Amino acid sequence: MPDIVDRETRSRMMSGIRGKDTKPELLIRKGLHARGFRFRLHSSRVPGRPDLILPRYHAAIFVHGCFWHSHACHLFRMPGTRTEFWKAKLERNRHRDAEVREVLLKNGWRILVIWECALKGKYRLDPDEVLDRATAWVRGDETEGEIAGRSV
Ligand SMILES: [Zn+2]
Repeated sequence: MPDIVDRETRSRMMSGIRGKDTKPELLIRKGLHARGFRFRLHSSRVPGRPDLILPRYHAAIFVHGCFWHSHACHLFRMPGTRTEFWKAKLERNRHRDAEVREVLLKNGWRILVIWECALKGKYRLDPDEVLDRATAWVRGDETEGEIAGRSV
């Protein structure tokens, strides 16, 4: 396993758990809540079970782990062991992300992806900036949005 994978991600990889209630996700939830937004979490009635949905705004928000979603940033590196296994797994994740995106858009959802590197690591942004940008996107009318760390 690569050194670059932090302890939280590593333990998630080992245990097979991922992508739920991560630190970046909790920060986004708390921040949006403090800004007066109300949302639902991991709604199984919405394709891809977005981390947050704000039905009033037709907005689905994903807080993506950079490893699991193969983000082209410094937090991602293909593991040096069991490489073929990880390649196949991450490739499946990519396909799934693309499918989910298509279905959501077709169903009238807007999609915001907040990458882990926006909130973690040396290129992270100020959390208030992330939340301001997320807030502006939710209130705006762009169909898709993305917030990433400064290196991307
Ligand atoms: Zn990233």
